[in-house]
Amino acid sequence: MDGIRPKSKEMQARAFKSIPLGVNSNFRYWGIDITPYVDKAKGAYLWDVDGNRYIDYRMAFGPIILGHAYDEVNAKVHEEIDRAVLCAMTNELELELAEMIIDMCPCVEMVRLACSGTEATMHALRVARAYTGREKIIKFEGMYHGFQDYTLFSTYAPVEAYGNINNPIAIPSSSGIPKSLSDLIITLPFNNFEVLDKVLRRSGNEIAAIIAEPCLGNCAAIEPIPGFLEFIREKCTEYGIVFILDEVKTGFRIARGGAQEFYHIKPDMATYAKALGNGFPIAAFGGKKDIMSIIGKGVAQGGTYNNNKSGVAAAVATLKLLKEKPILETIETRGKKLMQGLKDIFEDAGIPVSVHGYPAMLSFAVGTENVTGQRDWQGTEREYYLRLAEYAIDRGVMPDYDPREPWFLCYSHSEEDINLTLNVMADAVKHVKR
Ligand code: PLP
Repeated sequence: MDGIRPKSKEMQARAFKSIPLGVNSNFRYWGIDITPYVDKAKGAYLWDVDGNRYIDYRMAFGPIILGHAYDEVNAKVHEEIDRAVLCAMTNELELELAEMIIDMCPCVEMVRLACSGTEATMHALRVARAYTGREKIIKFEGMYHGFQDYTLFSTYAPVEAYGNINNPIAIPSSSGIPKSLSDLIITLPFNNFEVLDKVLRRSGNEIAAIIAEPCLGNCAAIEPIPGFLEFIREKCTEYGIVFILDEVKTGFRIARGGAQEFYHIKPDMATYAKALGNGFPIAAFGGKKDIMSIIGKGVAQGGTYNNNKSGVAAAVATLKLLKEKPILETIETRGKKLMQGLKDIFEDAGIPVSVHGYPAMLSFAVGTENVTGQRDWQGTEREYYLRLAEYAIDRGVMPDYDPREPWFLCYSHSEEDINLTLNVMADAVKHVKR
């Protein structure tokens, strides 16, 4: 990056002294001297500490569905936090939120709140284990379900480490994850019917849950091939396994009822966070009544901040807006234009590309026209993607620097923002060396 962020550099040098890597989440570190430090964000835009403005497509890793610091949401939060911030007692607003989630999300008959996606998946896994009396979990390569230890395997290792596709090895994504947890996780390639079927025939009766994002939301938004989610559903029913759909990224984003509505699929449980609160800390997990109602009957679940007023108020305001206004429809129109525009730019340049995902959450991989899982995605031209992203960021269009992270759209992205973005990307393809 070409020296347009001197203050960010200075701030990074200062941050290195007090915060590991100078950031409060590893994913926010892009490298020495290239990691932007932020001043403010409003609507579709973000300003770094050097005063550079960006059309933001990171949307804080997905939560911002309306726009940064969205007035109607912030007003509701202000109103509510003036009355109370945290009481460790149940408030009527929480009931309203629970009822709205149940109304919007097809599989959710009962729900509990949490503060982050990590907590939501962690709670859901415990409930699934308690419900089935089994311990093993199946997850898919390249999927990310938060920072809890149980599923932090085979998320972003080099795929060579994953072993043979018919007999995958679960690779822990961090030091510090207890070795014994490897015995409780089975990692499988996404979109591969045969391997899932084979593993279930061998061990189906030992599996408590299959946890899956509806798409590879943490690997370039690669979609499920037709029938794969339905196959998981069918097999979970056959083997008495709890199907947990992790909708932390897709919920309240790709449709009001998330991927369940989009794909007409009903898991047993689902997890939510991100778009639920337009940036405020709020999450939820829910599902069938007979599963959820074991909570409190020998099954522990809690959290001091689970009903934090700012998160609950933001979620009520966000869901009301999503229900009442054509927000997702507007995003869909703009996102479709962006997806098509990106495809055209590469095709016009004679460069093979596969554009993935949904108008509200999209990505692309270069050098191929067909990607179905993390293994083939790692064979795409990721270094070229990085150079394109760097070019775009320096010209005021900010996808995440990490090619696994999708581009997120919000209601505040205008037609003009999309046009400008496509112009920058067309220039990038013209000028960046492949
Ligand atoms: N599940 C999915 C699908 C996610 O993408 C993420 C975060 O990106 C999480 C869970 C964890 O959410 P959080 O970062 O709020 O803990």
